[in-house]
Amino acid sequence: MHQFFQSCQHTATTAKISIMKELKVYNSLTRTKEVFTPITRDHVGIYVCGPTVYSDVHLGNCRTFISFDIIYRHLKYLGYKVRYVRNITDAGHLEGDRDEGDDKFSKKARLEQLEPMEIVQKYTLGFHKVMALFNTLPPTIEPAATGHITEQIQMAQQIIDNGYAYVVNGTVYFDVEKYNKEKPYGILTNRKLEDLLEGTRELGGQDEKKGRLDFALWIKAGPEHLMQWPSPWGMGFPGWHIECSAMSEKYLGKQFDIHGGGMDLAATHHTNEIAKSQACYHTSPVRYWLHTNMLTVNGVRMSKSAGNGFLPEELFSGSHPLLEKSYSPMNVRFFMLQTHYRSTLDFSNEALQAAEKGLKRLWEAYESLTGFLWPGTLTSPANDMDRELDAKVSKLVGKLDEDMNDDFNTAKVLANMFELVPVINSIKDKTIAVTALSNDTFETLQKQFKIYMEDILGLKSISEADNAKLQGTMQLLIDIRKEAKKKKDFVTSDKIRNQLSQLGISIKDEKDGEMSWSIE
Ligand SMILES: [Zn+2]
Repeated sequence: MHQFFQSCQHTATTAKISIMKELKVYNSLTRTKEVFTPITRDHVGIYVCGPTVYSDVHLGNCRTFISFDIIYRHLKYLGYKVRYVRNITDAGHLEGDRDEGDDKFSKKARLEQLEPMEIVQKYTLGFHKVMALFNTLPPTIEPAATGHITEQIQMAQQIIDNGYAYVVNGTVYFDVEKYNKEKPYGILTNRKLEDLLEGTRELGGQDEKKGRLDFALWIKAGPEHLMQWPSPWGMGFPGWHIECSAMSEKYLGKQFDIHGGGMDLAATHHTNEIAKSQACYHTSPVRYWLHTNMLTVNGVRMSKSAGNGFLPEELFSGSHPLLEKSYSPMNVRFFMLQTHYRSTLDFSNEALQAAEKGLKRLWEAYESLTGFLWPGTLTSPANDMDRELDAKVSKLVGKLDEDMNDDFNTAKVLANMFELVPVINSIKDKTIAVTALSNDTFETLQKQFKIYMEDILGLKSISEADNAKLQGTMQLLIDIRKEAKKKKDFVTSDKIRNQLSQLGISIKDEKDGEMSWSIE
């Protein structure tokens, strides 16, 4: 058993888990909704593939991280002790998923004339900033690939020793066909090896690997390669796919409960993770595989090449040509939660604006509910009509847990919360008698609304959301000022600085052409 779980004694303080209806999750591996049973009672180990920090985090990734933030929050609400690991990929990610092309970090470092670690630092900080704006909780461990080179080398060596990998000219390849003779390689996406082979190109004379689907565990580095480490096979760097296997084993054990990520990772990255862990430890690494669906814009898949991929900052500032206005991080978070994480999420100005109105309505109801003191001493309503309302409110409040336990269905949770809004507004407007709800029902409504709004859905007050709008606006002004300076348009750049200064906001020019701002 893994150290984490070994050291955690079972206590009797987890009554919540047993009294609440059981949690069901959709497992991509079995393609069914299953009752969730953790390996170690009351504890959950969860691993989510984090960002590759060589550029700004894209919105599809944000959706994945927001979805797993909700899952993490709900597991904690259920009373589980959760170890939530989300990695930072800061080495070894090549442009092609199958070890082709340039190293993303080296390429960007050359382009921006920075050290690769400066690229990593810059985009890690940017990523954390966006995650904070979306009000996601930090994971309990955020390991970086470069901090776990030894573990990755050891794992590759073990796989070689077990006979599932081979070395060619300083590069270590995983032997997919050999592995597939014993275990189904395409198990996660339910595909046979023959079908997978059809989708890959024939090997040419220059290829070192034996099989078309073989992938690198360790890659030989040429002298021009900026990031490289010594290994038993010479200087090199890890393949992208091995870091998650090595780090999940280190922090969660050879088998753990939940592995998550975007569904685009299932076919290659996660498929390879399963193969490596099986080949290394002879055990299936993960009990439940959870995948988030993709984003579309007006019905078209979001992608850089289609020109419809906007960054979070562009949403916050409204600076993308497809956006009619800016949308606050809370607005975007709420908008995402209105769709279940396994369904496609379609962005449009109309939908974002509808979400903005919806969040405002819900938040206002929540605020008035929070401030309301229930004056009654009633244990049950006096007449039939009131009893009916009381029963309806109790049922809707009870449904919140039921819906979250049904594969984290935030869409249904929000729909039920909206059904409660007219009741809350009637209480506020005094259009229903205060005796209409029993004390118990009112108190449960008040308590559960708070838990859902803040603790599980992770929503924040509108005024805090306005603050994020200011962040977006300032970023926009800084971008305009940078452009003006580039064009030597000092009239515009000085105007922005001076007028902001009059408003009590100072802009500081940093050495590298960057600008920072602060409220005086
Ligand atoms: Zn991963």
